[in-house]
Amino acid sequence: MRKLGIYALVVLVITIILPTVIVKALNFVPREEEVDAAADYIEAKTIDRKSPIKLNKKIDKLKIYNNYSKEVEEIPIDDYIKGVVAAEMPAEFHMEALKAQAVAARTYAIFRSLKYPQGHPDHLGAALCNGVHCQAYLSLEELEDIHGSSWVENYWAKIEEAVDTTRNLGIFYDGEIIEPLYHSTSGGWTEDAREVFALSLPYLKSVPSPNEEEAPRFKSILTMAIDDFIAKIKSAYPKVNISRENIHEKIKLIDKTMTGRVKKVSIDGIVVEGRDLRDLFDLDSTSFIITLDTSLNIIEIETRGYGHGVGMSQWGANGMAKNGSDYEEILRHYYTGVEVKEIGN
Ligand SMILES: [Zn+2]
Repeated sequence: MRKLGIYALVVLVITIILPTVIVKALNFVPREEEVDAAADYIEAKTIDRKSPIKLNKKIDKLKIYNNYSKEVEEIPIDDYIKGVVAAEMPAEFHMEALKAQAVAARTYAIFRSLKYPQGHPDHLGAALCNGVHCQAYLSLEELEDIHGSSWVENYWAKIEEAVDTTRNLGIFYDGEIIEPLYHSTSGGWTEDAREVFALSLPYLKSVPSPNEEEAPRFKSILTMAIDDFIAKIKSAYPKVNISRENIHEKIKLIDKTMTGRVKKVSIDGIVVEGRDLRDLFDLDSTSFIITLDTSLNIIEIETRGYGHGVGMSQWGANGMAKNGSDYEEILRHYYTGVEVKEIGN
């Protein structure tokens, strides 16, 4: 921090971990629930710890709800995975990172299809949609519209290779296909799912995520006038009595996660979730520190990472790949205790 000694600086360390704006809901299907009504190309047995999900047939197509046309489309699974990899990860990334993304995207799609055999409650008729609500998907036509034909010439073959060379591979824990959440940038450590979604899963634990420094949103700083900061807080919490004079004693960190993300903050006695502050100030994550500079009358919010922080960090995956890890090593690093194998075997 600059010129600390000169200014009367009050550092309010608000360690908050905020899941992404649109977090992937983790309401699991009860283990006993039958999922054999999955789309007709999926055959699944009872979800039960003792008898893991079996996919008796290869999945050829998936039903995808298009958020723009409001229609359900049937897309061959490999075409869908290519469109997800291209939409979710920069095509400039290392091939092994793209492969890790391909396997995670396929696993996520199948997990969702089994979990929502009648379709997701938000888009009945399809377990997946084409937006970040599930995982982003863009058709080749849409990719060309967005990036131009030179992008297609330069990168489409690379995307296809990442998907084709990992065809039919999925991620499993204890014999069951997992819900492989992923995010952009962890900021150094991924987060335990329990801290973000209040659901503990053995494969979504906190792990170190080095080599993310190249991520554009590894660290970001939001600077604003103290008065604007106060006005924003009051717009959401009109009852709080905070002012320039008392702000340093009215905002207190109550609880943070092991990785330093903010869980709860007290604002003049009102308990505010870290994720709510993230939404209010449109922060990249809940890993943030608020610094008050009473000399310049400004507030700085320094945020680490981008996204909910759970599961695979995409920028961390690219960092690992550049340092020599292959896609399987990347997946086994970010998803604790898993194995990568053919789906249906
Ligand atoms: Zn969706």
